[in-house]
Amino acid sequence: MKTDILIVGSGLAGSTAARILAENGKKILVVERLRHIAGHCHDEKNEHNITIHTYGPHIFHTNNKKVWDFVNRFARFQPYQHKVLSYVEGKLVPFPINRDTLVQIFGKEIATYEVEEFLEKEVKKSKFNYPPKNFRDVVVSQVGERLYELFFKNYTIKQWDRDPEELSPEVAKRIPVRYTRDDRYFSDKYQGIPKEGYTKMVERMLDHPNIAVLLGVDYFEIKDEIKAKKTIYTGELDRFFDYTYGKLEYRSLELKFETFEEEYYQSVAVVNYPNDYDWTRITEYKHFLNEKSNVTTVCFEYSKAEGEPYYIVMTEDNLRKREQYMKEVEKLEESGEYVFIGRLAEYKYYNMDQVIGSAIVKIQK
Ligand code: UDP
Repeated sequence: MKTDILIVGSGLAGSTAARILAENGKKILVVERLRHIAGHCHDEKNEHNITIHTYGPHIFHTNNKKVWDFVNRFARFQPYQHKVLSYVEGKLVPFPINRDTLVQIFGKEIATYEVEEFLEKEVKKSKFNYPPKNFRDVVVSQVGERLYELFFKNYTIKQWDRDPEELSPEVAKRIPVRYTRDDRYFSDKYQGIPKEGYTKMVERMLDHPNIAVLLGVDYFEIKDEIKAKKTIYTGELDRFFDYTYGKLEYRSLELKFETFEEEYYQSVAVVNYPNDYDWTRITEYKHFLNEKSNVTTVCFEYSKAEGEPYYIVMTEDNLRKREQYMKEVEKLEESGEYVFIGRLAEYKYYNMDQVIGSAIVKIQK
């Protein structure tokens, strides 16, 4: 089989690349290992008419106007500001830590203007490396050991199954600390959920006369049968190179969906459980699109090592291996025959908008 461009994966990286190149007149063949499009941002309505994110909660947020304009060509977004509560010491408190979290945890009034000083005192009492060398250092340098132990330490151990001191500072930088009462999870300018779902958005991206899609096809099984001038790869980085520099680690999730005969299970879309139970968080899906129903579907998230690769694992060892693989990637990209895009192929802890942003930049090069 012949095509101008072969794209491996129909997630946000592959679909964005496919669309841009198709609009530039290229003939595209997308091969997808899964039996559906949209990769891990796939969603669908369940039998109760509630939109479920098949692989765990996906909330779109970006400051990148180009990316926002791009996705808005293919979906109408419902404005949504993500709120998360953390279950700590028997209480449900706002997370990321803000002024109200401190008031509820320490049981005393702290005015907004006093928060910074309060946290400084917490930090002064604590031991950590400065400049921060790892996940723990970043958090403790911002909020001190007491709050680190309550909100971060055990969640991080549950999620990554390793000591937070083995994780890169970058992981902690995902979570802000707020001196105000702002209780949003993200503070990006543009935030929302596609009204008809991510799958529909990706379906529209791929709906172009120059794009053909093959589902349930593993690239590694068919690659010798397809002649393409260029291959855009969005799968696991180490697998592409047949693990030459050793295996990179990924983390997966076990998602246990349950439907309850009640209107709401919890007051916000996501509740985190740093210290109690074995799950990391519970997501109640109807909050995302404000869907109305007498029943509600929730998902308990358990982190695990094996299974679909969802997360990269930012330890020194993995990041060192990544550098070795990326040198090979650079060579291939310079040849003009390959482009590597996305969370798995670039081995980066990207958010959805960053995946699309990377695709836009790399394709237009
Ligand atoms: N994290 C934490 N406590 C929380 C939430 C997050 O310690 O209540 C840490 C944890 O290490 C997590 C990381 O911050 O893996 C990034 O959190 P984020 O919500 O961005 O994770 P994602 O949505 O990507 O799973």
